Amino acid sequence: MNAFSAKSLNLRVRKEIMKILLQFPEGLKKLAFEEAGRLEKEGHEVFVSSAECFGACDLALEEAKAVGAKKIIHWGHSDFGVKSRIPVEYREYPIQIDAEKISAMVLPKLSKFKKIGLLTTVQHVGQLDELRQELERAGKTVLVGKGVRTRYPGQVLGCDFGAAKSIEAKVDCFVYFGGGLFHALADVGKPLLRADPFSGKVGWMDEELAKARSRRKGAMNALAVAKKVGILVSTKIGQKNTRGALVIKKELEEVGKICLLLVANKLEFNGLANFGSFDCFVNTACPRISDDTELAGKPVINLQDARVVARMLVKK
Ligand code: SF4
Repeated sequence: MNAFSAKSLNLRVRKEIMKILLQFPEGLKKLAFEEAGRLEKEGHEVFVSSAECFGACDLALEEAKAVGAKKIIHWGHSDFGVKSRIPVEYREYPIQIDAEKISAMVLPKLSKFKKIGLLTTVQHVGQLDELRQELERAGKTVLVGKGVRTRYPGQVLGCDFGAAKSIEAKVDCFVYFGGGLFHALADVGKPLLRADPFSGKVGWMDEELAKARSRRKGAMNALAVAKKVGILVSTKIGQKNTRGALVIKKELEEVGKICLLLVANKLEFNGLANFGSFDCFVNTACPRISDDTELAGKPVINLQDARVVARMLVKK
């Protein structure tokens, strides 16, 4: 290597060194020491966001801007399609499960069903085909749909069950495989069987979904009779909907409600309780915040449902 090329190589290496912000969801924060250490050894200056992270809708842009980071490395979620001025590198975190075991768990429950829609989270999408083959070997027809904000076929998010909706008319039931209940609460028009590879639990979601529907209906009824309404707006890049908040405020005021627009990055119900006087909240941010009605202490109605209520009140 001559002196010139050695110099240009050095320049190139120097150019790549930068200030980086790492962001992890709660379950992956344990990786922070190792990842930060690896990047620091390469010469980067590394900051780690310590705030809670709820999804790829929740990029740590304020922290990145404050420390002058030139890039965010966001772990554990797939690209959500949000446009950010600071480049974001998504690092997915696949978790291997035993597809044969999942198949053995679900097949005894599927004897009455022929056409199965498969759903899972980004951690397991890489094994969707394995499970599909297992079920097909057992004589099932397997279909996989695609959501709107999700990156992969079959992938669901708490706010995007499009992978189910897109094939709902063609299947007899759905099988969701993955950990926890959050992603299995898909309000779809066909029975949904949940198989958890970690706890080994398998069961139909009818009861949980009926509870969620009844909570939703109760919250809509509460909005219909409410006087004072807090309208929740989040500043998280993938959740912010100020336009929707202004529209619903106007619609609710037209039917006699008193509304206040409440804005925060993370919506904290403890803080909201100090306002003291709301009868209910309309949520324009992550639609799953309305799952937290108990924490809120007041009914929480999602924007679309609130608009249905407002239209209904106009007609009366
Ligand atoms: S469910 Fe909520 S937290 Fe999860 S990606 Fe969607 S908006 Fe974000």
